[in-house]
Amino acid sequence: MAYSNSELVKELTELGYLKSQLLIDAFNAIDRKDFVPPSLAEFAYHNEPLSIGNGQTISQPLTVAFMLELLDLRAGDKVMEIGSGSGWQTALIAKMIEHPGGITEDKDGRYGVISLERIDSLAQMAINNLSKYGFVEREVAKIINFDGTKGYETEAPFDKIIAAASADKIPESWKDQLIIGGRIVAPLGESIVVLDKTEKNDFEERAFHGFSFVPLIAG
Ligand code: SAH
Repeated sequence: MAYSNSELVKELTELGYLKSQLLIDAFNAIDRKDFVPPSLAEFAYHNEPLSIGNGQTISQPLTVAFMLELLDLRAGDKVMEIGSGSGWQTALIAKMIEHPGGITEDKDGRYGVISLERIDSLAQMAINNLSKYGFVEREVAKIINFDGTKGYETEAPFDKIIAAASADKIPESWKDQLIIGGRIVAPLGESIVVLDKTEKNDFEERAFHGFSFVPLIAG
């Protein structure tokens, strides 16, 4: 059982969930305790989901590590996340895509993580938590109270898309709003699917089984 953020990182690395240096550095830089309700602070470093109110949870660390390894982020990526919750995963994404030198030139400054959350009070919680690291202020992360099943056309296209809530079917809007060469990592039932967009209407799909998620709710 881990009792500090660095112990949690060590546990996830030893279990084989954390692999890449970019993700290990992000897990070390972002303290999960900053995203857990104060009443549950003592459990912040346990490898378990925890309640964040409104029937929702901060995701289990191993699931976040596994999905973010699959997402294969690069500094300068433009990312859409569906289901901000506590903002913990948003912060990890922001940390990985933020260029040390500021806005990237190669993408005309078109980078950042747009995170959609359907429950307004959770969107507010995520903004407060992300502000502890200045991600909202530096415009690396933007939380929007919006139904993510529609994607977010105004900010499309995205290099990468990740969802934290489980759908029965990957929404067409996500596929449309992804660049060719881009990747979606999303829960589908009790599995995690990876969709690589090879052509406008062509996707290569892989799936990993045996996870659990809260449902994606339209509207
Ligand atoms: N990674 C987050 C996980 C939050 S749980 C964390 O670690 O804190 C998943 C979140 O998805 C919940 O907050 C839920 O409200 C949200 N959600 C479910 N359906 C959604 C939808 N259609 N659009 C946006 N958010 C949605």
